[in-house]
Amino acid sequence: MEFCKTHLLKVQEENLYRKPVRYRFLDAVHVELEGKTYLSLSTNNYLGLTHSSAVQQAAIDAIFHYGTGSGGARLTTGSHPLYQELEEELAAFKKTEAAVVFNAGYMANVGVISALVGRGDIIFSDELNHASIIDGCCLSRAHRVVYRHGNIDDLAEKLKNTPCSGRRLIVTDGVFSMDGDIAPLNEIAALGETYEAMIMVDDAHAVGILGRGGCGTTDHFGLQGRIHIQMGTLSKSLASEGGYVAGSQVLIDYLINKARSFIFSTALSPATVGAAHGALLELQNHPELVETVLQNAQYVREALASAGVPVEGSITPILPIMVGEAARAVEMVALLKDEGLLVSAIRPPTVPSGSSRLRLTISAAHDRKELAKAVESIIAVSRRVKLSCKKDVKR
Ligand SMILES: *Cc1c(COP(=O)(O)O)cnc(C)c1O
Repeated sequence: MEFCKTHLLKVQEENLYRKPVRYRFLDAVHVELEGKTYLSLSTNNYLGLTHSSAVQQAAIDAIFHYGTGSGGARLTTGSHPLYQELEEELAAFKKTEAAVVFNAGYMANVGVISALVGRGDIIFSDELNHASIIDGCCLSRAHRVVYRHGNIDDLAEKLKNTPCSGRRLIVTDGVFSMDGDIAPLNEIAALGETYEAMIMVDDAHAVGILGRGGCGTTDHFGLQGRIHIQMGTLSKSLASEGGYVAGSQVLIDYLINKARSFIFSTALSPATVGAAHGALLELQNHPELVETVLQNAQYVREALASAGVPVEGSITPILPIMVGEAARAVEMVALLKDEGLLVSAIRPPTVPSGSSRLRLTISAAHDRKELAKAVESIIAVSRRVKLSCKKDVKR
C-alpha cells in the first residue's frame, strides 16, 4: 500500500489534501463547528428547504407510513408509493411527459449517458461539465469530443468535423457548478437540431433558480419540447438526495429498462423521497423563494464587484471569487473562518490547475444583514491577501 502514502504526501505538498469536516447545521445556513457558530456561504441548499417544517414533516410522515428503508431495488420491491407521487410531480414541474428518480444525481448522469450512447456513438461535452457527466461518458465507451466552455463556435466546428454513423449526444451543465454561468442552451438546441443530436442538460444548479417557478434551464430559454433529456438532482434546492431525469415517456421507459445505475441499486428510503416531494411542493407553493435567492445573490455579487473583488458568475447564486493558486485559496478560507464565515476553497482536480477559487453560494435563507457583514469581511480579507484583478488569474 506504499503508493497510497506516496499519493497522500504529494497532495499534501500541493495543498490539495482533503478530508471530510464534521458540520452540524443549526438551521439552513448556520453551522456549529468546533464549538463555534458560523455563517455558511457554501451550501447548495439554495432555498433553505432542508429546515422547512413542512419538508421535515414530510420525511417524518414517510418513515411512519413506509418504514426507514426501501428494502429492494426499484424493479423488485423498492418502489414505495411515494416514488410515483414524486415522479408525477417532477414531470408536471418540468413540463415533460414523464420523469424517473435515480439514487443520486451522480448515478443519473452515469446511468443515462451509458444507456443512451455506446461504442460507435459520439458525445460532445463542455469542458467544464460536472465530474459525473465525465464519468458517464467514460462508462458509455462512446467517443468523447470536448468543446471549449460555453463556446458555440467550437461546438459547431466539432459537430461539423466529426463524422459519425452512430448516435450523437450533446451534454452540458445548465448552470456550471463551479463557475455559476449559464450554458447557451438555445444555441446548443439549434445546433443539435441541425446535426440530429440528442441534447441533455444537467440542471443540478438550475432548479429552484432559473425558469418560471424555478423549473430550470429549458424553461429559462423557452425550449420546451426541444431538450430531450433534462437531468437534475434532489440534493440541492430540493433539500433531500437523489437524482432524476425528465423527458418523453419513451425516454423514461427506456431508461428504466436500460440504465444500470437505476436497475442495480436499492431504491431510496421513504424519508428521502418524502422530503424531496415535500420540498417540491414547498417550492411550488412559495415561488417567492426563487426571487429571494436571486436577489440575495445579486446583492452580494454587486457589493463585492463594486469593491473590486474578482467575483465571476452570472445571475445565479454561485459566485466564484477567482484566486489562482490553491495555497492562497486555503489561506483565504482560514482568514474568513476567523471572521465567522464558512466558504469552500475549490481546488484541482475539481477545477483546472491555476484556477482555484472561493465558491460562495447564496441561499434564500440568508439574512440580508448577515450577508452585508459577510461582504465586509470578504472585502477586508481580499485586500489583506492582495487579491488582484481578474486578468491575473489563469483560466
Ligand atoms: C451535484 C451535482 C451532480 C450530482 O448530484 P448528486 O445528487 O449530488 O449526486 C451532478 N451534476 C452537477 C452539475 C452537480 O452539481
